Amino acid sequence: MDFKNITIAGSGVLGYQIAFQTAFHGYHVTVYDINDDVLKKAAAKFDILAQAFEKDLHASKEQLASTFDRLIYSSDLAAAVANADLLIEAVPENPAIKIGFYQELAKVAPEKTIFATNSSTLLPSQFAQETGRPEKFLALHFANEIWKHNTAEIMGHPGTDKTVFEQVVNFAKSIGMVALPLLKEQPGYIVNSLLVPLLSAATDLLVNEVADAQTIDKTWMVATGAPTDPFGILDIVGITTAYNINKMSAEATNDPLKIKTVAYLKEHFIDKNKLGVATGEGFYTY
Ligand code: NAD
Repeated sequence: MDFKNITIAGSGVLGYQIAFQTAFHGYHVTVYDINDDVLKKAAAKFDILAQAFEKDLHASKEQLASTFDRLIYSSDLAAAVANADLLIEAVPENPAIKIGFYQELAKVAPEKTIFATNSSTLLPSQFAQETGRPEKFLALHFANEIWKHNTAEIMGHPGTDKTVFEQVVNFAKSIGMVALPLLKEQPGYIVNSLLVPLLSAATDLLVNEVADAQTIDKTWMVATGAPTDPFGILDIVGITTAYNINKMSAEATNDPLKIKTVAYLKEHFIDKNKLGVATGEGFYTY
């Protein structure tokens, strides 16, 4: 089956990017969110995103105009999904919200619709039953700034139909993504399984007073040829996220170094509102 109509649920940081990327590549896209005010804000953000597509991808005025023509909005879930071949869920990373969303969706979605979650940390098997169609459910995980960092990790749960998995791999390729199929469920997929330990090791070295942030970054970049540095990445991800991950880890393990890291991030960054690129300052100034 070729997909034509795609519904994106949640028009926040990732949802509106996925919607625009998908419409840009020729699909009819319905953007769904909890009310019309939120949808109006999403529509305004598309104008800014269009400028990024122009600058970074050299998108033409005609391409962008037809992208806008293919985007529609709805805060009525049944109407938003009525004709969807695929629904991509990008609602908040909160299990209760996701479960509530899938329970409602299961009541109104047509039988043909495949559901894909963009969840960063939760596994599809955690919601498979709530979808009412576990065989047509899997994860399709994008990265922030999807048009530039164009990875799409596709990860099923044990009950995902193999044909559905392949259809979603093909869909990901068709919207300009590098499709990255995972052979089994893995918390953090591939990208965060690699990235989180690196960032965590960098923070450990800093908090343990082995070296300062610039020296740690310089070591990584010069020694490996990597174009980005661990603390620069932390500034992009946001120090609040790093703080929350370390806090969960400290509470789970009681590891003295993790406890020290939580206190360090709180004192030097969280309490000073130095949260990274988003606030103009983190480990570096922007
Ligand atoms: P966000 O908070 O920016 O946006 C969430 C959107 O969902 C908001 O527009 C909100 O109004 C809407 N929403 C809330 N409840 C809803 C409901 N019941 N039905 C429909 N919409 C609802 O979140 P985000 O950063 O875009 O993250 C969304 C998902 O994408 C999460 O699962 C997250 O893990 C994942 N993700 C985020 C990033 C990132 O860098 N932000 C990267 C990859 C994946």
